[in-house]
Amino acid sequence: MKVHLPESLDALWDLLDQHPQAGIMAGGTDLLVSLRAGKQHLPTVICLERLAPLQTIEPLDQTLRIGAGVTLTRILENSLVHTHLPLLHKSVASLGSPLVRNMATLGGNICTASPAGDTLPALYVLGAKLSLASAKGRRILPLESFIQGPGKTALAKGEILDSVIIPFPAGFGVQHFEKLGQRNALAISVVSFAALIRTQDNLVQRARFAWGSVGPTIVRSPQAEKALEGNPLSLEALLRVADLARAAVEPITDVRASADYRRRVAGNMVLRLAAL
Ligand SMILES: Cc1cc2nc3c(=O)[nH]c(=O)nc-3n(C[C@H](O)[C@H](O)[C@H](O)COP(=O)(O)OP(=O)(O)OC[C@H]3O[C@@H](n4cnc5c(N)ncnc54)[C@H](O)[C@@H]3O)c2cc1C
Repeated sequence: MKVHLPESLDALWDLLDQHPQAGIMAGGTDLLVSLRAGKQHLPTVICLERLAPLQTIEPLDQTLRIGAGVTLTRILENSLVHTHLPLLHKSVASLGSPLVRNMATLGGNICTASPAGDTLPALYVLGAKLSLASAKGRRILPLESFIQGPGKTALAKGEILDSVIIPFPAGFGVQHFEKLGQRNALAISVVSFAALIRTQDNLVQRARFAWGSVGPTIVRSPQAEKALEGNPLSLEALLRVADLARAAVEPITDVRASADYRRRVAGNMVLRLAAL
C-alpha cells in the first residue's frame, strides 16, 4: 500500500486525481480498524494530517468553524467550545478514551456516518453545516443532507470534508447529552440522546432532540419537539414526549441490545430532562 502525506490542498487535489481509488485517512481510528479487519482493501491511502487549513478552530459571526482534521482532544481543550458549545463538549468527552481522542478527528466521526457516532446527535440539534471542498471549489451542506445512511455520505469523488460550521445556540439554557453503553468508558453507544431547550418564564419555547443508535441514521422527532413547546419542563409533559420519541425511533436488535430495549431507553432518556 502506498501512503501519501500532502502538505497543501493543491497537492491533495493532484493526488486524488491521480489515485481515484485512494482512501482518505484522518486519525485512522476507524479506517485502520476496517483495513486490519480486511473489510476494505486500498491500494493507496492519502493522509490529511499535514493540511493546515483542516487544523484550525475559528469563531465567525456567532458560529464556530472547526477544521475537519482537528482532533477530539483539541476540541475538548478549546475554550470557545467549552463556553458556547457545552453540548458538543459533552458528546466529544464521551467518545472512546483519551488515546482514541488524541488521534480521532471530528471530520472522521462525521464521515464514518455511523448511527452510533457520538458527536452526531449533538451536531444535528446544533444545526451544523459542512463545508465540502474539491479541486472544483466548495459547497455547504446541512449535516442531515450529508449523512444518507449507515456509512453512506454525500461526499463526491475527489471531495473531502474540510470544516464543520456550528452555530452558537444562543438562549438555549439546557444543553444535554447522554450516552448509554455496555460500560462507562470505551463503549459504542446502545442509545444516545442530545437535547437543546430554550425556556422563557418557565415554559419551553423551543426544543430540539436527536437520538443515536436507534435507526439507520440519527433520528429527529418534530412531533416530540412540538409536544414540549409551551409546557413546563415537567415530568408530566415529558411523559408525552417520551411516548412520541418511542414512536419515532426505528431501532434494530444487535449484539449490544434488543430493539425493544433501545426503544424503551430512547423514551426514558427524555424523562431525565425533568431532573435538570
Ligand atoms: C478503541 C476505539 C474506540 C472508539 N470509540 C468510539 C466511541 O465511543 N464513539 C464513537 O462515535 N466512535 C468511536 N470510535 C470510532 C472513531 O474513533 C471515531 O469515529 C473517530 O471520530 C474517527 O475519526 P478519525 O479521524 O480516526 O477517522 P478515520 O479513521 O481517519 O476516517 C474515518 C472515515 O472517514 C473518512 N474521512 C475522515 N476524514 C475525512 C475528511 N476530512 N473528508 C473526507 N473523508 C474523511 C475516511 O476516509 C474514513 O472512511 C472508536 C474507535 C476505536 C478504535
